[in-house]
Amino acid sequence: MSDVPESHPRYVSLKLRDTIVAGVESGVTSIHGLMAHGRGEAFDYLIGEETQPFAMDAIRAGVATLLLAKHPVVSVNGNVAALIPGELVTLGNVLKAPLEVNIFHASKEREAAIQAHLRKHGAVDVLMPTTDAQLSFIDSNRKFVHPEGIFRADVVFVPLEDGDRCEALQKMGKTVVTVDLNPMSRTATGAGITIVDNVVRALPLLIQEVQALKKTAPILLREIVSQYSNDNALQVAIQWIRRER
Ligand code: ATP
Ligand code: MG
Repeated sequence: MSDVPESHPRYVSLKLRDTIVAGVESGVTSIHGLMAHGRGEAFDYLIGEETQPFAMDAIRAGVATLLLAKHPVVSVNGNVAALIPGELVTLGNVLKAPLEVNIFHASKEREAAIQAHLRKHGAVDVLMPTTDAQLSFIDSNRKFVHPEGIFRADVVFVPLEDGDRCEALQKMGKTVVTVDLNPMSRTATGAGITIVDNVVRALPLLIQEVQALKKTAPILLREIVSQYSNDNALQVAIQWIRRER
């Protein structure tokens, strides 16, 4: 870890860089993940590095959707495994949803490293990609899934999804709930619910919201979902980025 003083104005951001770099060094994160992280940082800067109201609305609707799901699954890639392993495990537990490793750049070693990393943070079962079940409409490594996980899921929570697979999952009739700092990405515009926020801030808030809503009647959860418009939330996020400063 680099030696960043806590007084540094960009302390949190620099610490996150260290965490992602450590993820690459330990074989959890792809080197390409550094670029994805950099793109995220740029949007986080524009958003103000704080959770904004449009993200809170999406968190609420996303949690209602996940609580209404019959088979929710949490998809894990190398960036989120490095940044928020403990929170992913907690979210899976509170939702009673399995975690499933799913990465873009094919590597059996990295898949195993992500699984081991999640176990170190308390995960019991971590589903792995298989060749027994494949997603339609997609050619990348992300098409290989687990028959009891993403393959049969009705709602998939995919922080840091990529656009192609988001589209493929939706074509297969699944609802995608994602976290993406770029409100203009294909993922953001293609997902059912997009939380425009940093995963590092969004995950603890998602866990809190599950606790707050888990006893809510399904009819009320459905109302929360029906009142939410993803297009509207993304437009508000873009307007916020373009605001006068
Ligand atoms: P798409 O395929 O959806 O068009 P992309 O190709 O622009 O997306 P990728 O490189 O596939 O982007 O993935 C990186 C995405 O993840 C970017 O949109 C980036 O803003 C977002 N991102 C990166 N780090 C974070 C983070 N910590 N929290 C939330 N979003 C992030
Ligand atoms: Mg992409």
